[in-house]
Amino acid sequence: MPSICVRVFLGLAGLVLLPSCSTGPYFVAKHEPWRAKEEQACLASGVVRETPYIRSRSALGGPSACGAERPFEMAAAHRGRVRLKPAALLRCSMIPQVDRWVATVIEPAARRNFGASIAEITVAASYACRPMNNKVGGNLSEHGHANALDVSGFVLSDGQRITVKQGWQGNWGERAFLRAVHDGACAQFSTVLGPDYDSNHHDHFHVDLMRRGRYGERRVCK
Ligand SMILES: [Zn+2]
Repeated sequence: MPSICVRVFLGLAGLVLLPSCSTGPYFVAKHEPWRAKEEQACLASGVVRETPYIRSRSALGGPSACGAERPFEMAAAHRGRVRLKPAALLRCSMIPQVDRWVATVIEPAARRNFGASIAEITVAASYACRPMNNKVGGNLSEHGHANALDVSGFVLSDGQRITVKQGWQGNWGERAFLRAVHDGACAQFSTVLGPDYDSNHHDHFHVDLMRRGRYGERRVCK
């Protein structure tokens, strides 16, 4: 994994990070006080409880713009019935949304289309301190705030494996399942991007809770 080399400047545009060494990705991060407030409110609400599969981790990020105050390692959703592999590192507000997505959208879609339940979700990425789409000089990705999850596939209880890459244009059942999973995510997350959005997302669904619009009312579902 490449190291992040940044210098921090506070300017009118907010926090700007520039490279302090010749290699490694760098990014621009805005000053966004809502993030810490939202995380603290989520933690105080008790909506996320520690279980054998949802464990609290120490703070991520340190002196850079990345991270979260008290992230969680989510190894399973839907009361431990559906594994996340590998476990996802996510900030507080992501946990209940991922859980609801699995329980109310993914699991019913699997039963409807395959007559099986979901055993495992393949996590392509969660926390990563990097620019959007790994483009040097781009805005810091929601992954950098542990506020995003990339899902590339699903394993059913009968062992069948469905991937976004193959299944998006796969057989009727795979296509119906993956579109239901994608469209259903739009009720739980403020950003949902899939293969129809661009080639960067040809093999996974990206979901995040970026605050869009003045009151967080805007959504992107593509
Ligand atoms: Zn992503």
